[in-house]
Amino acid sequence: QAHLDRIAAVDGDVHAYLHVNDAALAEASAIDAKRAAGERLPELAGVPVAIKDVLCTIGMPSTAGSRMLEGWVPPYDATVVERMKAAGLIALGKTNMDEFAMGSSTEHSAFGPTRNPWNLERIPGGSGGGSAAAVAAFEAPFALGSDTGGSIRQPAAVTGSVGVKPTYGGVSRYGAIALASSLDQVGPVSRTVLDSALLHDVVGGHDPKDSTSLTGAWPSFAEAARAGRRDGSLKGLRVGVVKQIADGEGFQAGVTQRFRESLELLADAGAEIVEVSAPNFEYAVAAYYLILPAEASSNLAKFDSVRFGLRVTPEGGGTVEQVMAATREAGLGDEVKRRIILGTYALSAGYYDAYYGSAQKVRTLIQQDFSAAFAQADVLVSPAAPTTAFKLGEKLDDPLAMYLNDITTIPANLAGVPGIGLPMGLAPEDGLPVGIQFMAPAREDARLYTVGAALE
Ligand code: GLN
Repeated sequence: QAHLDRIAAVDGDVHAYLHVNDAALAEASAIDAKRAAGERLPELAGVPVAIKDVLCTIGMPSTAGSRMLEGWVPPYDATVVERMKAAGLIALGKTNMDEFAMGSSTEHSAFGPTRNPWNLERIPGGSGGGSAAAVAAFEAPFALGSDTGGSIRQPAAVTGSVGVKPTYGGVSRYGAIALASSLDQVGPVSRTVLDSALLHDVVGGHDPKDSTSLTGAWPSFAEAARAGRRDGSLKGLRVGVVKQIADGEGFQAGVTQRFRESLELLADAGAEIVEVSAPNFEYAVAAYYLILPAEASSNLAKFDSVRFGLRVTPEGGGTVEQVMAATREAGLGDEVKRRIILGTYALSAGYYDAYYGSAQKVRTLIQQDFSAAFAQADVLVSPAAPTTAFKLGEKLDDPLAMYLNDITTIPANLAGVPGIGLPMGLAPEDGLPVGIQFMAPAREDARLYTVGAALE
């Protein structure tokens, strides 16, 4: 009830939600009744969760921020949603996002932007700005997001929240409307490191329905976070500062200042700070913006006016192709069209090797950079985003400026390694939240929870 009241009070301004689950209270009461009857329930039973609208939910619309899917109600739950419900967690509603998760500001949502609760003139990050804003505005205790190039970590950073992109394959993608399948990961957003760990424990682990899901057991992330909280010492931990994404051009002065102070905090806690070089990170954004559109153009081909959602028939009727074209013209926004055009171009005969092939080679080089860096350090560190939340409209007409904002987060997706973003104070020049990011080798997500919780 407290969260529903909060949504009623502030969401008119923040617009974090696209849909609120009107059965949430009844579902919570049912949990209460079970508990009153002495039934033993999982730890988080009854706690509400906000769900990014890219995740399929039975009985609730799932639009991925697109007109193309307006009003579409999936016939099944995403695996993460199914697991969350099985643990007694309550779906509070669906959160706003850039259309099909393309963007860094949530301004590309077909249903209007979300605003940053810290300052309503500022963006909440993207693509999962709704999930992060809901958490930051106390409209949800935690939320699920998806991170293809930073869409969990960057919104967390600019709203003063915690966000985790798990190891690729660590959390099921089944039922997550695909953007770029080799990069997408579902993960938690919360106000504390432990809360993210708790949610990750519930939704993570092998899923036979996702062909890229990792097999084998995972440690308890909550335990890892609790260990970090208890101990607080980082003695013996080697923290690698990645030169290429630590500071320099495009990094706001206040972000750099807070980042340097954080390094001192880490050293005070006993960590050894080492500088590492990842020379190919410089090309990460360029490679990503070829690989992502290529995969997205293929994934989005299913929105053909027949199988899902919108169908627009030209006046007087039309051929299958004309209906398809009219539907995609009306149903997809400019950013989505831009990326489909980029992607189909990069994949076309004669250009495939030059663009897509080269980008894949750069991706391998970036993976090698990570391997070399992890030989020198247990975790890598950088600012979670190069700037604090920018003003609504500021980068909307400049896609390149918007893309460059992803420099700190994209490398982890290209290599499939886990990353956590957490708050590191406010920037002196604008009083807005600044985030720090840690990355660990694949499958070492637990390390991030321990380090994050120790620093918190
Ligand atoms: N900002 C990035 C993009 O626009 C990240 C998207 C994401 O992680 N879904 O592609």
